[in-house]
Amino acid sequence: MVRKKKIPMRKCLGCNEMRPKKEMMRVVRTPEGNVSIDLKGKASGRGCYVCPNIECLDKALKGKRIESALETEINEDIISLLREHILNNG
Ligand SMILES: [Zn+2]
Repeated sequence: MVRKKKIPMRKCLGCNEMRPKKEMMRVVRTPEGNVSIDLKGKASGRGCYVCPNIECLDKALKGKRIESALETEINEDIISLLREHILNNG
């Protein structure tokens, strides 16, 4: 019997929908306490997922969902980094 490969799904903090992990943007807090975008999805640390679009990012930021998921503060620098990433890749 051939088993289908299971696609890893993750929930977006903006729209709360499950999507394939590889389509999501992973935001990670490294063990050093820095927040950054995990482009390869393999960085260690506490991570969360958002769809790569501004609407979902804004929702996730407004509800402070990224902050509570990562248990850290998200400052303006990080927000513009995330926005730029989405704009450059969308
Ligand atoms: Zn979303």
